[in-house]
Amino acid sequence: MVRRKLIAANWKMYKTIRESEAFVAVIRPAVSRLGGCDLLIFPPFFSVPRVSELLSGSEVSVGAQDLSWEDGGAFTGEVSGAMIRDTGATHVLVGHSERRHVIGEGNDVVARKLRAALRAGLTPVLCVGERIDHRDANRHQDYVGEQLETALAGLSAGDVGRMAIAYEPVWAIGTGRTATPADAVAMHAFVRTWIREAFGAGVAERLRIQYGGSVKPENAPGLLAEAEIDGALVGGASLDPVSFLAIATAAVEGGLGPEGRWSRG
Ligand code: PEP
Repeated sequence: MVRRKLIAANWKMYKTIRESEAFVAVIRPAVSRLGGCDLLIFPPFFSVPRVSELLSGSEVSVGAQDLSWEDGGAFTGEVSGAMIRDTGATHVLVGHSERRHVIGEGNDVVARKLRAALRAGLTPVLCVGERIDHRDANRHQDYVGEQLETALAGLSAGDVGRMAIAYEPVWAIGTGRTATPADAVAMHAFVRTWIREAFGAGVAERLRIQYGGSVKPENAPGLLAEAEIDGALVGGASLDPVSFLAIATAAVEGGLGPEGRWSRG
């Protein structure tokens, strides 16, 4: 089955509202030429409403980088799934490695947030991935299997059919190190087999599994040429609209469009 590639930008804690507007001004005119893939942007919370507004009616989806596991109440500083939906955003990242390993969220928290996202009608992008010590000990598949088990236990095939999964090896995020296409394909195949066994062949075949970890215009063509890699979750290289468009071009054309073809306007 041919799945449309999903290219997502995770801006992390970068970009003010004005900087977010400047990014959208560059990509908005270009996206009609990228109709062969789906684009998604995860701005920081404060920019989500403005980016959603500016991209409404376009092919580009918008999501939040995190959400509360609660639907409302006395939880100072938290943001609910319904509040995210109210901005026009449709997606949310759940279990990003920086939430897990820097902020300290465990598998139980990730599982609760995943359910909150589904209750709110958001499309979750569930992030999984091993640390370097797991890979060195050849425990990377066991570790990712545990992440899937705890996050997805008790969900229905319909729930899992509504989400995407991002495989992001922790050692590759923001480090400049990238998994080889072969390593990424092996892990994606492991995840798909796991999903097939737990939720059936139909869900597994449709599920989009993105790769994330230092994806750049230079390495995107090699990764995105793989049928098993259904897109990319891009951090650092997504902050520059021209570099983000170059990565999306690799998804559409299977090759790197010269960066110069995209203009900063
Ligand atoms: C990410 O933020 O999900 C990510 C993969 O970051 P980077 O591309 O900078 O490694």
